[in-house]
Amino acid sequence: MKYQIYTIIIAGLVTSCGVKKTTTIKTDNPNKSSDSAKSLVKQEEKQQSKDLSIPASDKKTKPEAEIKIQPQFEPITSTPQVSKKIVKTDAEWKALLSPEEYQILRQKGTERAFTGKFDKHYKEGTYTCKGCGTPLFESTTKYDSGCGWPAFFKAKENTIDETVDRSYGMIRTEITCKKCDGHLGHIFNDGPNPTGVRYCVNSASMGFIPAEKDKQSNPKQKK
Ligand SMILES: [Zn+2]
Repeated sequence: MKYQIYTIIIAGLVTSCGVKKTTTIKTDNPNKSSDSAKSLVKQEEKQQSKDLSIPASDKKTKPEAEIKIQPQFEPITSTPQVSKKIVKTDAEWKALLSPEEYQILRQKGTERAFTGKFDKHYKEGTYTCKGCGTPLFESTTKYDSGCGWPAFFKAKENTIDETVDRSYGMIRTEITCKKCDGHLGHIFNDGPNPTGVRYCVNSASMGFIPAEKDKQSNPKQKK
């Protein structure tokens, strides 16, 4: 009987202790195990996402790079098309111009004073470059300076280049056509208002396009 009682007590103690132990283990370990399990799952997810992100980014970067390269070519091709200069050989200029026009436009010559066809020319219209046809001056800006050459107080915007000219012992400012580099004459600071400058231009360096009124009234007087 004593053994039976002892065994029952021991069994009861063991089972109670076992239950207590198991309950404590159950209460402690599941939380820890679940936390660690969650952290492990997160780490695995991160690794997977990292592993997935590498090929995904590789797949994306290739088409993006191809798309980015294409628009870079558009502005490059569009920029050089702006304002190309007219370049001809001496033989081509000689074939295009009269000997006097060639000597003045291409060799920086000067016509004799009071001999040019536009010196006393005051019709309405537009004066152009004889070499390339670029409009340079409007007749409304022409005036009689008395110097012996056609004079203008204003040129059309962005059509004429100015360069220092030290020839013949003088310091003057040469004016040339921006488009074809043809010599036009010189510019001085003794012009009338509103600009105060005088574009002194050889008649041989210019052409003339009459205004619409002159074209209709005198169509046969084109020069
Ligand atoms: Zn020109």
